[in-house]
Amino acid sequence: MQLRGTLHLHEPMAKHTSWRVGGPAERFYVPADLDDLVCYLQRLLPEEPLFWLGLGSNLLVRDGGIKGTVIQTFGALARHEFLDQQRLRVEAGVACAKVARLSAKRGLTGAEFLAGIPGTIGGALAMNAGAFAGETWTHVEQLETLDRQGTLRVRQRDEYHVDYRSVCGPQGEWFVAAYLKLERDPGAETGQRIKELLAERLAKQPIQQASCGSVFRNPPGDSAARLIEEAGLKGLRIGGAFVSEKHANFFINGGDASAADIEALIDRVALAVEAKQGVRLIPEVRIVGHQSTQLEHASDG
Ligand SMILES: Cc1cc2nc3c(=O)[nH]c(=O)nc-3n(C[C@H](O)[C@H](O)[C@H](O)COP(=O)(O)OP(=O)(O)OC[C@H]3O[C@@H](n4cnc5c(N)ncnc54)[C@H](O)[C@@H]3O)c2cc1C
Repeated sequence: MQLRGTLHLHEPMAKHTSWRVGGPAERFYVPADLDDLVCYLQRLLPEEPLFWLGLGSNLLVRDGGIKGTVIQTFGALARHEFLDQQRLRVEAGVACAKVARLSAKRGLTGAEFLAGIPGTIGGALAMNAGAFAGETWTHVEQLETLDRQGTLRVRQRDEYHVDYRSVCGPQGEWFVAAYLKLERDPGAETGQRIKELLAERLAKQPIQQASCGSVFRNPPGDSAARLIEEAGLKGLRIGGAFVSEKHANFFINGGDASAADIEALIDRVALAVEAKQGVRLIPEVRIVGHQSTQLEHASDG
């Protein structure tokens, strides 16, 4: 079968991350749909490194970029279908906010928290994304996955160990779709609840600036933002990156930050918090790719 997706070479990852930084992906494939992605993977060389991208809202791609192929799911694995009064199948590239909206329209509750998460369902599954006491995996019944040979599988919820912003399951597989179960409550003011949650975010988080949301996980029983603020680090700047004054766990690209600036800021803040409060903060954000110098050496060789 002929491939129907689009392959870009040396695609700047800065175009695909919410931090607006990141060097080029050697190859960047946007499948036409799931069947096309299966075909693409079946033809992939076994040694080709593979990275799956949703909306890049929890990702720091280093300035040297990504070797191998990046698969973009957003706009590609884009189908959803309500299966009965409470259940839906939703593909990995669907935006979380869309799932919140569609569910509210159907008189379903439980997905409201997804409205303010600017990623895809695939990213939300990988991260167990959550907010306002809601978590993605609370609603998962089954999954469909794909491996790098292009083999599709159905997986059950209990094949995964799920924790706060952490998901561990069968290795070498990526999510292509989730079967979600929500609560039916046509009387609930779900649309209104979504508006309230979005307003609360706007009041507390610098969502109009380039960030990846919370940089660090909250330590058990504590808040990373509180620790960073009390260490006096709000406003701390390295190059074009700085700690937000509005929410200390959000680090902002002021416009000309490099990924190296942001990574240095992450390291500096973690060290300062550990020195002052004795707590080692663990990044929530995924850091991938090569430093610029590493890439230059790689292409030299
Ligand atoms: C302003 C702002 C607010 C945010 N608020 C929240 C919040 O309230 N709660 C929260 O949890 N997060 C929040 N985030 C972080 C982010 O939106 C979530 O982590 C989201 O789930 C990431 O989805 P994504 O599609 O952007 O994933 P990406 O950033 O593209 O990828 C993240 C990781 O998931 C992997 N991945 C992506 N798709 C798949 C797939 N199909 N199969 C397997 N692995 C995959 C990637 O390889 C990568 O390792 C916020 C971010 C921003 C910018």
